[in-house]
Amino acid sequence: MSLKDLIPAEDAIGIVLDGASSIGEEMLPLKQAANRTLSQNLVSLRTQPPFDASAMDGYAVLQSDVQTLPAKLTVIGESKAGTPFDNPMSQSEAVRIFTGAVVPEGADTIIIQENTNAVDGEVEVLSGNPPGKFIRNAGLDFAEGETLLEAGDVLTPYRLSLAASMNHAELPVYQQAKVALISTGDELVMPGEATQPGQIIASNTFGIAASIENCGAAVMDLGIAGDTKSALRSKLEEAINQGANIIVTTGGASVGDHDLVLPVAQELGFGFKIAKIAMRPGKPFLFGKIQHEGRTVYLTGLAGNPVSSLVAFNVFVKPLIHLLSGRDASAMNLVPAVLGCDLPQNDERAEYMRARLEISADGKRIASPFSKQDSSMLANLVRADCLVYRAVKAEVAKAGDGCEVVLIS
Ligand code: AMP
Ligand code: MG
Repeated sequence: MSLKDLIPAEDAIGIVLDGASSIGEEMLPLKQAANRTLSQNLVSLRTQPPFDASAMDGYAVLQSDVQTLPAKLTVIGESKAGTPFDNPMSQSEAVRIFTGAVVPEGADTIIIQENTNAVDGEVEVLSGNPPGKFIRNAGLDFAEGETLLEAGDVLTPYRLSLAASMNHAELPVYQQAKVALISTGDELVMPGEATQPGQIIASNTFGIAASIENCGAAVMDLGIAGDTKSALRSKLEEAINQGANIIVTTGGASVGDHDLVLPVAQELGFGFKIAKIAMRPGKPFLFGKIQHEGRTVYLTGLAGNPVSSLVAFNVFVKPLIHLLSGRDASAMNLVPAVLGCDLPQNDERAEYMRARLEISADGKRIASPFSKQDSSMLANLVRADCLVYRAVKAEVAKAGDGCEVVLIS
């Protein structure tokens, strides 16, 4: 296999992920752990709720006292959240109780306050309910010792709250991958800057940076390198020296005179395994690595065209970031759909076609690829609901034929 070969996308994913593993673990306070990935299973340190608790505001009573209604009971005290009523209850007694408070010893029934009349130290119960109805029993949610979260779980807001409720102040998580982002091209200017003839707004940077963060990694945006070897070399060195685990470049990834990522990275010692993928969009894709101070630094060189770079990011870079961060690295998920129009035979590059998706009366996904698929066209990427996947040399397909799509909206 040489760098001149068009590598099938499936093989390329294997090459990118080969030998990659999580970069390390650390303990983090809950507040800093959002969107990180658990590195160990998490066992609850506590039973929740830790006691039988009232689910409503009302009165704790004995069921035997409310068999005949109305019933008058003596109110002997109060149990509120955080301040239990400490004595056991006896016949004909009631304890005023509030949501979240401990159900007093001896009580088996909560009467909601709407069904009572309070008068001078007494309460008149007007209508009853079965024992236990408004009581959250100890352990209703979970018990001490239960494994509720597992290594590999991403700490979503819900999971973070659960971990807190399990009484963990710190969580074992995978270290966050650091991803350096370098945009290349003499023609690039930042949004809002004055433009000269021939210039292009750097747009990739923003979508790729957001995608990196969505993967749970930290972005180091190193800005734009002009199309000179020295400019690119110094950005790559900066990325390596600042501790990047992955360097993502955009632009300059193919074989034109001004495509410098491959030669400059090779001069720095990166070994490359991939330069071209049998895929559209996303054909120029560089993949190399270097060892630096005991760690592997990956270089993924994305094309300059916005759609190519975003698609290639999702297919190749996202699973790599996920693997380094301890996450499930499975690639883009293909789901079945039906074509909304005819498609010609495909060539030697697998294709991801931007398409609109409609749901038919019988519930099928109907995917209709746009007629224009140029890899520079961002507006129709945003308009697309899915990417229709066409395998290498896929046969002529007719409207109504089955197909596979990646959902993107
Ligand atoms: P290249 O891969 O460097 O040959 O660039 C291919 C095309 O993508 C050219 O039209 C570039 O102007 C454009 N391009 C390169 N980088 C970016 C970027 N960061 N944002 C938007 N377009 C870009
Ligand atoms: Mg360029």
